[in-house]
Amino acid sequence: MLDQVPTQLVVCESPTNPVTKIADIEHLTEHARRAGALTVLDNTFAGFHNHGQYPIDVFLHSLTKYASGHGDVMGGAIIAAKPLIAAMRKDVVTIGPTLDPHAAFLIQRGMRTYFLRYDRQCATALQVARFLEKDRRVRRVFHPGLESHPQHALARRQMSDFGAVVTFELGAGLAEGDRFAEALRYFAICASLGSTESLVMPARLLGGNEFDEAQRTMSMINQGTVRLSIGLEEPEDLISDLAQALDQAIP
Ligand SMILES: *Cc1c(COP(=O)(O)O)cnc(C)c1O
Repeated sequence: MLDQVPTQLVVCESPTNPVTKIADIEHLTEHARRAGALTVLDNTFAGFHNHGQYPIDVFLHSLTKYASGHGDVMGGAIIAAKPLIAAMRKDVVTIGPTLDPHAAFLIQRGMRTYFLRYDRQCATALQVARFLEKDRRVRRVFHPGLESHPQHALARRQMSDFGAVVTFELGAGLAEGDRFAEALRYFAICASLGSTESLVMPARLLGGNEFDEAQRTMSMINQGTVRLSIGLEEPEDLISDLAQALDQAIP
């Protein structure tokens, strides 16, 4: 039965949270168009300035992240052509996700420094990713800006920069991941990203504890996975902090 219902909506995310898989957006939008389906892209990791060249019908953004940028407000945005927004507006307003004036003010103010923050955070993230790649206790690093990323060429074609999330796998278990996160001085243990300060999520918080084998394979999250969100601190400070935390977690 199900396979007789035509596809109406294609939903994707790129880079994905947390292991930064890259969706082939040209391929997806072409096939969706041919099927007459709408395309939705969660563009939060990529930022507002990326992927605008593709005929995506609906962009989703968490404003909590790079838009606000200071980790002090929550919000979201739907970006689409006017007729689509008009069709959604009534439901969205009725359901209630309306920003209060102070939250709207903070997000607007955050947007003024969006490019400065994003540029700097991306540059530092790449430095951090390169540092982690060389450490013997790190099994694998996921960041689309790394040449070792399996979809680096695709990311380079689609994006002008690669985001400030660096995910990696410690060659160890949950306890070492916890010890690592707690030993960090510059990284707050927190579920968000895109803040001025750097943040860390060890596997226990990413779900590495609860997933079964199939979920682990699909999500690529396991007991050694750690997600970093890189902030505006000095790159050298972050790198030496990561080095001392690795020493403490896995001597
Ligand atoms: C954080 C995040 C969301 C959810 O946004 P909130 O503002 O935290 O509710 C959705 N998609 C991605 C990719 C995110 O990183």
